[in-house]
Amino acid sequence: MATTATSIKRMFIDGKWCDADSGRTLGVINPATEEVLEEIAYGGRAETRRAVEAAQRAMPAWTKQTAWDRAKVLKKTADFMRQRCDAIARTLTLEQGKPLAESKAEILHSADTFEWFAEEGKRAYGQIIPNSAPGKRHLTLKHPVGVVGAISPWNFPITLQARKIAPALAAGCTIVCKPASQTPLSLVQVFECMIEASLPAGVANLVMGPAQEIADEFLENQICRKISFTGSTEVGKQLMRGAADQVKRVSLELGGHAPFIVFADADPEAVAKAAVIGKFRNNGQVCIAPSRFYIHADVHKRFTEAAVEFARALKLGNGLDAGTEVGPMFEKKAMEHTVQLVDDARQHGAKVLTGGKRSTRFERGYFFEPTVLANLSPSARIMTDEPFAPVMPLLDFSKIDDVIQAANNTRYGLAAYVFTNDLTITWRMAEGLEAGIIGINDPVPATPQCPFGGMKESGLGRELAHEGLEAYLETKYISLKLRD
Ligand code: NAP
Repeated sequence: MATTATSIKRMFIDGKWCDADSGRTLGVINPATEEVLEEIAYGGRAETRRAVEAAQRAMPAWTKQTAWDRAKVLKKTADFMRQRCDAIARTLTLEQGKPLAESKAEILHSADTFEWFAEEGKRAYGQIIPNSAPGKRHLTLKHPVGVVGAISPWNFPITLQARKIAPALAAGCTIVCKPASQTPLSLVQVFECMIEASLPAGVANLVMGPAQEIADEFLENQICRKISFTGSTEVGKQLMRGAADQVKRVSLELGGHAPFIVFADADPEAVAKAAVIGKFRNNGQVCIAPSRFYIHADVHKRFTEAAVEFARALKLGNGLDAGTEVGPMFEKKAMEHTVQLVDDARQHGAKVLTGGKRSTRFERGYFFEPTVLANLSPSARIMTDEPFAPVMPLLDFSKIDDVIQAANNTRYGLAAYVFTNDLTITWRMAEGLEAGIIGINDPVPATPQCPFGGMKESGLGRELAHEGLEAYLETKYISLKLRD
């Protein structure tokens, strides 16, 4: 494989950049060119143990700081991220593939997350609770959970760590972060921002290496009190089982299979445009990506024609090139998985309205044509498995009860989208859908001050919002008996 690697990106443990004990490195691939971009230090269990121990040593002083002082580090981190947005975005596009504009949006959203939790940390309030017995007083205090192990996937390498680092640090916890092995480079740049923002040694650590080894250390080391994981439902379940032994706290942000439901009163062309933008953002490799499109029979034809036209017009290319709207998929395996999903849908009778294959316009890179499918059978894999692919399956419906039932007929419950201007339909859908995030006429609902997370097998707990801070706090109840 061709290489353009010039340097090694190191792990960050106890305030120092360091190599793997073994000297082992791993190449990070550019999905647009299939070249090695850079090597990373690839450690393992011993390095993770040192990072966890450093986080434990750093915790008393960090917890003792006031929330106002901790906020200064988080706010300065946000400032540095905004100042360096262009440089970090370039790295993110190179390692992940998404267009530069999407990379910039990810960095700015993540900077906002750091800033928002800097402020929310000041609101980790306890309560004074009215007493029932004379002479007693009851109150609660908030206490940081402890050292956190944070594992994240490759699709939003910065955002998904920011949603863990910022609230954990704001709450007075310390953290050891493990990014996806394929996309660690942009997070290294975020660590540089934290270091320049005067992050004390050991408060946030970065380890890279085989996932199982790092996770085993998080699970088996008594010092690590919480695991915050974003990734597949299968790995989330394994971690939940592993965490049971020491009753470790777990937050899980897992897979989704979001229904996108368009009622007859919606404008089919305008909604088709929003649907195409929402579906093909980051090539459909988004946990809240709409992935089953239920269109009311009255507007199905107009919606379909518009969606096919918009999808065909999307500009596929290297994310660094001006005008690119859809980049390569992030790895070869993901592209091959998409080929199989479309083949399986075809075998179950689906019709390909546009796309449906690897793009032949590129000599290298994992480019798949934005795809729209019709005539979906409920037994096609794409209807039950999380697709994580640039494929838009279109279905139709006539009755509200039927579409609610179809939308909820999945083990997932992360996001759902509804397009209507009818107030009664809006309420029935908001109350009837089993999803943690519901966008009504809103294809991009995520924002730092609102809760993000799933029902059913899509996860446990919420990130962002006040709930995202609470996830790093224990409630201590104090009962006080006064002298008579
Ligand atoms: P994945 O295989 O579960 O990997 C995610 C992370 O877990 C990576 O850092 C990976 O490390 C690590 N990992 C892999 N095997 C592990 C193990 N046995 N124990 C502990 N950690 C392990 O997920 P993916 O398929 O790459 O990512 C896509 C999934 O993430 C989708 O299901 C998507 O819906 C979900 N996701 C959810 C949200 C949300 O907020 N709900 C957001 C984004 C993505 P390596 O890279 O080193 O293998």
